[in-house]
Parts: sequence; C-alpha cells; structure tokens
Amino acid sequence: MIHVAIYNEYIHERESECVAAVYPQGIHAVIADFLRSDEIDVKCFTLDTVNEITDEELKTTDVMIWWGHKRHDAVPDEVAARVRNAVQNGMGIIFLHSAHHSKPFKFLMGTCCHLTWREDGDMERVWTVRPAHPIAQGIGRYFELPHDETYGEPFGIPEPDEVVFIGWYEGGEVFRSGCTFHRDYGKIFYFQPGHETFPIYYDKNVQTVIRNAVYWAKPAFRLPDLTCPHVKKPGEE
Ligand code: ZN
Repeated sequence: MIHVAIYNEYIHERESECVAAVYPQGIHAVIADFLRSDEIDVKCFTLDTVNEITDEELKTTDVMIWWGHKRHDAVPDEVAARVRNAVQNGMGIIFLHSAHHSKPFKFLMGTCCHLTWREDGDMERVWTVRPAHPIAQGIGRYFELPHDETYGEPFGIPEPDEVVFIGWYEGGEVFRSGCTFHRDYGKIFYFQPGHETFPIYYDKNVQTVIRNAVYWAKPAFRLPDLTCPHVKKPGEE
C-alpha cells in the first residue's frame, strides 16, 4: 500500500463561486478520488488542519502532494521544515501549480522559485520531452489543456535533475512544466498544470501524470532521522 497525504490550502474553493463550481468539495477531494485504489490510500489536510502534519504523520506518509496559493504564509515554518526533513529522509513529494511558492518547495529548492505568469485562459500544450521517464508513461508526444494559467520562464529553480515536460502556451511562452529533483533520499516532482478556475485535475492525462509521479516518488529507502551517526569500524560490531 502506498500512503499518500494531500495538502490543499482549500481557500479559493470556499471564497470564490467560480472555483467552487469546478471543485465543490475542494481540489484535494478530486485528486484523492482519482488516486484512491487497491494500492493507494489517501488522507487530506487543509490549512485548517495544517498543524496535524506532524513528524509522526509524515513517518507513515510515502508521498505527499502539495497545492497552495493564497496563504503560503499561513503555513507555519515548523510544519514546512518537518515536510522538508521528511523528504530528506526519503518521503516523496509532488508540488502542483502555484505550490512553486510554497514554503516546503522553497525550503527544498533554496532559490526564489519566481516565474512569469498571466491569466488569459490560453490553451496549454504539454510536451513530453523524456518519453522513457516513468512519470511520462501513458502520455503521448503531447497533450493539450484547453485553458490554463500561463506560466513562463525564467523559473527560479535550481537546475532540475530531469525535465520531463515542457509547457507551451498560445501566447508563445514556454515553461519547464514537469521537473524532478532529489534531495538526500527523497524524490521531488514539480508539475505546473492546475489553475483553480479550470477543471485541470479532471483531465485524464493530468491524472495519469500525477498517479505515475506517486509511484515514481514512493520511497525505496528511509532514514530514521537526520543525524551523522557515530559508527564502529567495519568488522568491529
Ligand atoms: Zn494559478
């Protein structure tokens, strides 16, 4: 069983009628619905319950998924640090869309994570640039989203380990829409599609990418803590 924990701040859906029309139970509920299976169990956290993301909780989480936008600042530093530490110990994490500015992402990247953006509802064509990557399986040469928020380069991230997808928008912008990183033992995937006013998380290709990313990011090894253990010479045990 893969244990997935979704954090969605769950603000837009409760404040904006047009977002509530797309995600009446919240973005997290839609992601949880398509991920849940015989092999994946899912629990959800929102900004209201963010303090319940404890070390104990993270120890039993294989992969976390993070969506936030309006209230990144309201996530306590100590929660973000716990998430970062869990990733360094081996937990996988997937950051979606505007989570590029979330505290855990910035803690893990160590850079500004700025990008350029505009909200004109452009069509986005998501190009697969690493078709052999596990996250790209089941995705063709490209797929299209009729409308998404435009994100453009430069994207203020460290050089990714792999760029799996590049987004192209009607306005001509391009963006590194699917990037992988490793931090210590943990795997990180950033995936750009997901503006809250469009039904992006109902899209079958987007769902395939996120499901593939869960399988890719699940830990192969976990460190019990982040220390430098004092050890004996080989053969002395
Ligand atoms: Zn957005």
